[in-house]
Formats: sequence, structure tokens, C-alpha cells
Amino acid sequence: MNVDLETEIIDCPYCGRSDGVPWAEENGFTAEKCGECGLVYVNPRPNQSLIQQAVKTGVHSDVDHGRTAVTRRVVSKVAYYKKIFSSMFDDVWRDTTTITWLDVGAGYGEIVEAVASLAPTGSEIEGIEPMHPKAEHARARGLNISEKYLHEVREKFDFVSLINVYSHIPDFRPFLKDVQAVLVDGGEFFLESGNIGDLIDSREVPTELDLPDHLVFAGEKHLTGCLTDAGFTIVSVKKLRKDGLVNFAKNIIKKLMGRYVMLAIPYTSNYRSILIRAKLDVVP
Ligand SMILES: [Zn+2]
Repeated sequence: MNVDLETEIIDCPYCGRSDGVPWAEENGFTAEKCGECGLVYVNPRPNQSLIQQAVKTGVHSDVDHGRTAVTRRVVSKVAYYKKIFSSMFDDVWRDTTTITWLDVGAGYGEIVEAVASLAPTGSEIEGIEPMHPKAEHARARGLNISEKYLHEVREKFDFVSLINVYSHIPDFRPFLKDVQAVLVDGGEFFLESGNIGDLIDSREVPTELDLPDHLVFAGEKHLTGCLTDAGFTIVSVKKLRKDGLVNFAKNIIKKLMGRYVMLAIPYTSNYRSILIRAKLDVVP
């Protein structure tokens, strides 16, 4: 495949400037760092039809060495997110009113399971996942996960979550319009993404960037900036280290298995996972 015919050159998706400098390279693609705002983004990037194709099948036709984004269900994720949601949404669980929650990019349904285990009885917790093998796997386990994109959703929800999906979305601002369209008045949005856009040195990224499966890497200000511009009020922000001793041990195992990981000294990395809870302002 001639990659040149399938890619497009873009300006910074956050600030619109075009003075990005090469920051990291992987799988024949370059991630640039914006000279103005610091956002990291693949440029040139696969064009829209190539991105859509990859999202549906989970296989990147432009990456020729057999890598695929189809992974597997991670059981430990359910308990991990249950703990996070338990503290970040404690007011929601204390109030016994039933809720509706949509997880976008639900994968194998771990987030849906975590939220369902906390939500008051009678709540409706569901997800959407465009990647067929993942959605099918989740449905087989009895989870309410449909195979569609956010712009195809017609119902409204009290909560929408987007867990580690941000980097797959080519343009986040129009995406947030789709989020707003499915939220009730005063509804809430929950987002998790790494802070790669805040890092000066790409060697601080703990794993592969997974270019061009991942297209954009934000920092905290890019995430909160897009949200406030779109009419959300930030309720709370949590930052989690990924370079503690447990992760260090996991990384040693991955390295022994031949995977790429940064074996940094524990508690020295500036990499964080950023979790943001935001509430949609009610327009009078
Ligand atoms: Zn920029």
C-alpha cells in the first residue's frame, strides 16, 4: 500500500497552528509536538476512510507487521475502575436515584461492569463499541453493548464516559458536540487519558505510542480547555502515577516477553493518567 495516498497533512487539532516539530516515530509514522500549545499528534495522519476501517475491524491495514489493536478482556480492570468510580462519584452512589450511563468505546465492557456494580438498582448502564469482535464478546457475556458510533446514538444519558479512547479520536472538539447531544441537561462527562502532551521528552512515555492507532496525545490543559470551551464545568481532576512498584514489576514481565516498555526508576516519571469529571452547564 502506498501510504502517501492514504494520509493527510494537518494543522494542530487543538490550536490550529502548523509549526509542529517531530517528537516521536513509530511504525513509519511521526508524532509531532505543537510549538504553540504542546499537543502531540500524528502528522501526516491516516485519512478518515483509513481510520474508520481500522476502528471497525481492529486491524490496521497500513501496518504490515501483523500488529493488531484487537486485545482481550482484562478482568482486573473491573475492580480497578470500581475503586476509581467509587471515590470520584461517591455523591452519585450515596443518592439512591437510578441513573443512565453510556460508556463510549466500551471495548469488552469492563467499565460497564464496574459502573453497574455501583449504580442503584434499576439504573441502565450500557456501552457502544464500533469494533465488532469486542462488542460481540461483551454481548455474549450479557452486557448491553451495541456496535455503533456516538453520533448514531439517539437516547439521552445522565453520564457519558470515555476511558482511554481520546487518542483514537482525530478531532476532539466536534466529538464533544456529539457527547453534548446525548447528555441530559446538567449531565456529566467522565474522561481518562494519559498526559503525554505534557511531557517534554518522548522517552518518558511508559509504553509504545501505538501510532497510528493513536492519533492525538493531550496534556491536562488540552483536555480541560476543550471541555470548558464546549460548555462543561470541571467537577474534579485526579492524576494517577503509572510508575509505582507494581507497574515496574509488570513492565519487567512485559520486557521479558519481548514487548517494548520503558524501565524507568519507580516514582521518577512525569507521566500521569488524568481523570476528569465534568458537568454540562445548563444554558438558561
Ligand atoms: Zn497546538
